[in-house]
Amino acid sequence: MRDAVLAWFDASGRIFAIREARDPYAILVSEVMAQQTQISRAQEYWTRWMAIFPSLEALACASPADVLRAWAGLGYNRRAINLQRAARVVVAEYGGRLPETVEELERLPGVGPYTARAVAAIAFGAPVTAVDTNVRRVLSRLAFASGVVAPGDLQALADGLLPPDRSAAWTQALMDVGAIFCRSRRPVCDACPVRAWCQFAAAGDAERPARPSRSRVPFATTSRWLRGRILERLRDADTSAWTVFRDPIGGHDPAAITSALVAMARDGLVELDGQDSARARLPLS
Ligand code: SF4
Repeated sequence: MRDAVLAWFDASGRIFAIREARDPYAILVSEVMAQQTQISRAQEYWTRWMAIFPSLEALACASPADVLRAWAGLGYNRRAINLQRAARVVVAEYGGRLPETVEELERLPGVGPYTARAVAAIAFGAPVTAVDTNVRRVLSRLAFASGVVAPGDLQALADGLLPPDRSAAWTQALMDVGAIFCRSRRPVCDACPVRAWCQFAAAGDAERPARPSRSRVPFATTSRWLRGRILERLRDADTSAWTVFRDPIGGHDPAAITSALVAMARDGLVELDGQDSARARLPLS
């Protein structure tokens, strides 16, 4: 099964400039960007980001306001702030060189088990597997007709399958199988390179559990939407000027906006005027 997946990946894996990067910092940026953004879309932002902040030192020295502006369009903005915090830790504690072990990487701000393992495997060739949503789906279906597996068992399963000499290719190959064939709703089993070993595919439709339908919340009423609009305004404002938030935004009244601003200040995304918490700007340091 491993040989089949790697042979398929060598011949047909997705080609992205982002994957050609060898600099561990560039790989860290790509993995953080790809967490909640499709890799094809993240690539465009990654190219721009690397031109603005070509090294950990450049990122560490920048103002958070510039970092948040460079992140515009990617969403989940705490990732940008954490990336900069991680850069500052690496510069201060590791002399500007990204640490190589999963344990050290996981201690960096915003770097969770998935990112630490992905960077260790792809940047340093460490014999570890990163399990993201796509990989989780592939492995769960591969091993179980129900397509369901407990998180701890899943990591053990992933580690057990790893080819020790090609951890980077294996990590990216499983991500591609998940993205191209093993889609959540309609997996394309007949073309999938693991079809011959897959328990879920062998079980057929009758064994597949019905998926619960999601309840939909109007997007303009969510706090994520509100935080996005607040940052949008601040990115467009003068760097050092305060922007005043007293009017409703979408379905959010001023009290909800103030709560959002306070939470965003706690996350390091905005700076509030000490005299008036309705006045905010992007952090300057
Ligand atoms: Fe997913 Fe089908 Fe491939 Fe199994 S055979 S991993 S269910 S796409």
